[in-house]
Amino acid sequence: MSIQQIRLFGDPVLVTPTSPVIDFDKELRTLVADLTQTMLDAPGAGLAAPQIGVPLRVFVWDVDQELGHLINPTLNLSPEIQEGEEGCLSFPELRYETPRAMRVVAKGFNMYGEPIVVEGSELLARAIQHETDHLDGILFIDRLSPEDRKLAMKEIRESEWFGTSLDLGVIPRVKISPHNPFDKGL
Ligand code: ZN
Repeated sequence: MSIQQIRLFGDPVLVTPTSPVIDFDKELRTLVADLTQTMLDAPGAGLAAPQIGVPLRVFVWDVDQELGHLINPTLNLSPEIQEGEEGCLSFPELRYETPRAMRVVAKGFNMYGEPIVVEGSELLARAIQHETDHLDGILFIDRLSPEDRKLAMKEIRESEWFGTSLDLGVIPRVKISPHNPFDKGL
């Protein structure tokens, strides 16, 4: 079990759809442990496998002092929408208003291959939608209004971290200072 490097926007792994987990083996349980440890260290409210360079449908969360993980998720979203800002550990310090469904029912599996259902609202629902998007190669900036997306891209281009992941294959680990839970990236 170890803390992994978090991939930053610009790394192609973040925009590549991932594959379903087939083997619920020891390796998968190590992946869940690594994701959890890396998320807690960041700290973040959620982390998806492609964010540490693993193209599998696995993510973890830390919401309201509860840790969770989900494998091969399928989501059912409420028609009701929630407002609120969102960030992402792969976009250090960026936060933008991102509309999400207020409630979600997520079906999938735990790391032992047992079917589970996770029901969440507000921040948990937001985290589950954000992380499931990661598994499809979709990033939170894709969910912004066109105006905010333009602002976000400008902020990214001007950020210190942007482009560093492309230099000589060296990916620096960016540590975000602790915020309250609602300020954590996902
Ligand atoms: Zn994210």
